[in-house]
Amino acid sequence: MEEQVIYHPDFLVIPEGGEKPYLVAYRCEKCGLLYFPKVNICLNCFAEDFAKQPLSGKGKVYSYTIQYTPQPGLKAPSTVGYIDLPEDLRVLAQIVAEPEQMKIGMDVELTVGEIRKDADGKSMISYKFKPVE
Ligand SMILES: [Zn+2]
Repeated sequence: MEEQVIYHPDFLVIPEGGEKPYLVAYRCEKCGLLYFPKVNICLNCFAEDFAKQPLSGKGKVYSYTIQYTPQPGLKAPSTVGYIDLPEDLRVLAQIVAEPEQMKIGMDVELTVGEIRKDADGKSMISYKFKPVE
């Protein structure tokens, strides 16, 4: 089997029992502001204590672009977009869809897969989104 590296292990959980993967946001314990990805210091109140909050994995495409000459390690065409989550967060992620499927406002959901190859040719696994079927 091809060697894999799980990227972003502190905010992407891939359960070993085969349950659905999920993203984890971090809520400031002092002011309640929610962050994804993780930050070390709250940008609102400078507190340093955060509580983990699993996210639903649902979202809507806020905006996207299709790369026909993507960075090395990515296949073309490659779609990248901002996803608005119901938890009031906006996340940048690869979107697994054909270019003609893409629409602003479309419903997407979390998936996991290769985001690129690393310098050693290993498959880097992280979060992506895909259209809801
Ligand atoms: Zn705060």
